[in-house]
Amino acid sequence: MSPIPYGRQHITDEDIAAVAEVLRGPFLTQGPHIVAFESAFATYIGSQYAVAIANGTAALHLCCMALGVKEGTRVITTPITFSASANCVRYCGGEVHFADVDPETALLDINAVRALLEQHPKGYFSGIIPVDFAGYPVDFAAFRQLADEYGLWLLEDACHAPGGSFTDSAGINHRCGDGSLAELAIFSFHPVKHIAAGEGGMITTNDEALYKHLLRLRTHGITNKPNEFTEPYPGEPERGGWYMELQELGYNYRLTDMQAALGASQLQRADAMLARRQEIAKRYDEAFAGTNVTTIVPPANVNHAYHLYVIQVDDRKGLYDFLRTKNIMAQVHYIPVHLMPYYREFGWKPGDFPNAERYYARCLSLPMFPTLTDEEQQYVIESVKEFLIA
Ligand SMILES: *Cc1c(COP(=O)(O)O)cnc(C)c1O
Repeated sequence: MSPIPYGRQHITDEDIAAVAEVLRGPFLTQGPHIVAFESAFATYIGSQYAVAIANGTAALHLCCMALGVKEGTRVITTPITFSASANCVRYCGGEVHFADVDPETALLDINAVRALLEQHPKGYFSGIIPVDFAGYPVDFAAFRQLADEYGLWLLEDACHAPGGSFTDSAGINHRCGDGSLAELAIFSFHPVKHIAAGEGGMITTNDEALYKHLLRLRTHGITNKPNEFTEPYPGEPERGGWYMELQELGYNYRLTDMQAALGASQLQRADAMLARRQEIAKRYDEAFAGTNVTTIVPPANVNHAYHLYVIQVDDRKGLYDFLRTKNIMAQVHYIPVHLMPYYREFGWKPGDFPNAERYYARCLSLPMFPTLTDEEQQYVIESVKEFLIA
């Protein structure tokens, strides 16, 4: 039996044909497939605008730039995430602050964030980066209210949650990254995520000014749009078709047209792939109900996108090693970011966030991807149970 990874992309003949078609055409980078992918993605997510970016990390970086993060800017995020959610603040010279997670969901705990905000004068912090960890949608309605109280922006790291949604207390359904509650949201198209483009990322927003700024930041900070040009200087040679302006320091964070074609092709199957993830999660939930395996089962108002299926057990290392002997490549998500040597240099230390650290001690991500077969999943379930009984 070949190893079963915790996540795996699925490439169809249609996907391959879509990429091959681009290779035969005139545009390899920033051609018509970028615009088509952006438009289809915005429609899928429910946002007004979408900007395709080289990868999710670059998307986070540009979002921080567009939101004005600079040296001294203080931003709050969760320790239970991929480190890029925090690193983006550092790229701009800002300060990363963490708040603990909710022990039930492992999501950034709004009460911990509120407590942190209350310890400082208003204006001390500038923004919050909540993460829809594992695909469990953060209650952005509650975070919006808190952010407005303190004049903060919200950047949603929705890498795990395309297609996820939650219904707020007023009965309104919010899709992750739809732009209705957070200023900006970002997604990743790394192969292990819901939609694979090789590398790739997307920013979604409903804010036109941020959208236009992000388009420029994606391409060096250069504009070639005449309506955005500055006034000619005295004696300037007449401007021709070559004219463009570097208006600020941006980056080359473009996505290629090949990647956009692959992403757009995959996006057509997004609903079916999400449904399959949810079906797999339901089987795991049922299999572990009543055992000493802790699972995170969301309430009815939460439409979980299941990038990951995480269980929590006392002997996590034992189970991880045992599953390896069974060719099951379970994984740990995540080692808390504040405990990484890089962040320890800023003074963060063990004991700072007990819920995150307790979660890390017990968590294990089981195989979760749309092409996992029922037989493979049954084998995973039986292997976990075998270890727990042995
Ligand atoms: C994958 C991921 C990223 C980074 O995306 P890349 O495309 O790999 O750069 C950021 N945040 C979270 C939560 C992720 O899972």
